[in-house]
Amino acid sequence: EPKTVIVTGASSGVGLWSAKALADLGWHVVMACRDLAKAEAAADATGIATDRRSLLPIDLASMDSVRGFVADFRKTGRRLDALLCNAAVYLPRLTEPMRSPEGYEISVATNYFGHFLLANLLLPDLQRGVAPRLITLGTVTANSEEFGGKVPIPAPADLGDLAGLEAGFRAPVAMIDGKAFKPGKAYKDSKLCTMIMSRELHRRFHADTGIVFNTLYPGCVADTPLFRHAPAAFRTIFPWFQKNITKGYVSQPLSGERAAQVVADAGFAASGVHWSWGNRQRAGREAFSQPLSARASDAARNARLWDLTAKLTGLA
Ligand code: NDP
Repeated sequence: EPKTVIVTGASSGVGLWSAKALADLGWHVVMACRDLAKAEAAADATGIATDRRSLLPIDLASMDSVRGFVADFRKTGRRLDALLCNAAVYLPRLTEPMRSPEGYEISVATNYFGHFLLANLLLPDLQRGVAPRLITLGTVTANSEEFGGKVPIPAPADLGDLAGLEAGFRAPVAMIDGKAFKPGKAYKDSKLCTMIMSRELHRRFHADTGIVFNTLYPGCVADTPLFRHAPAAFRTIFPWFQKNITKGYVSQPLSGERAAQVVADAGFAASGVHWSWGNRQRAGREAFSQPLSARASDAARNARLWDLTAKLTGLA
């Protein structure tokens, strides 16, 4: 039986190219996507072998949909060896918060709550897998150990004292810290939370389950559709800037190969690691493990974040 991986958001960008790289390594890829027609067309265009892929619907912003996905996956009877938490929305131009079916701010609901629920529900399935791994896409902007994490535009990730989550995270609350809505910061906060989630999963479950829990930053994949809601000038300048000034630019196929390595390669078997290739790309550059910033390492707050999220996602 080939190894099976679930990739969320496999209809474009990093997720699509991760699916391609893993299928090429002989894995069966379950593409967990909200638009199956789009995902299928993307899989065809990318050349993902039809016998190495299947498609299952999921809307990560909806807690019911996440539960439905898990039920659908179990019906396939496949063993689960890896989960790649990749899907995300970035909506920097919203002036008002968009809401999920449960009434939560949409980027935190999609990028963080959906993956938190999915990861927790699939732990027993992963535990029965072969050398199982649960890998989460982090980002440099959520990590103050790297230069990108220090850029204060529009504001760095900051979870404050979690007052927004504490208050139930429904309107009028839109930010985890309970402060005024800033759409770009909502994305950064959500990504910081997924990185903390991975560390908490490692701390709580690695020793007992053997599951490997890691995050990665594949480099700046400046031309994925993630930036489709950013202003047109930004979408022209940003890839150029990343290619020529910061030298952080990474192509979509290379980002997929990197994520696939973290999912599948024997060299990435340690758990509790944030893998990075750094900001300045060079040919043949190898991954290194990187410490997370103080923002991601406050043990008491991370435990509270876990408990509040479990409540808001209906797990606790
Ligand atoms: P894309 O916008 O290309 O891909 C995002 C994927 O998530 C799409 O497949 C999208 O589906 C899916 N998605 C969005 N909302 C939902 C939802 N509610 N339910 C299910 N799927 C959903 O972005 P990237 O490939 O650039 O980003 C992928 C990951 O990589 C993200 O976690 C991002 O934070 C991370 N990352 C990206 C970097 C970059 O420079 N691009 C750098 C570092 C990390 P649909 O096609 O239907 O919209």
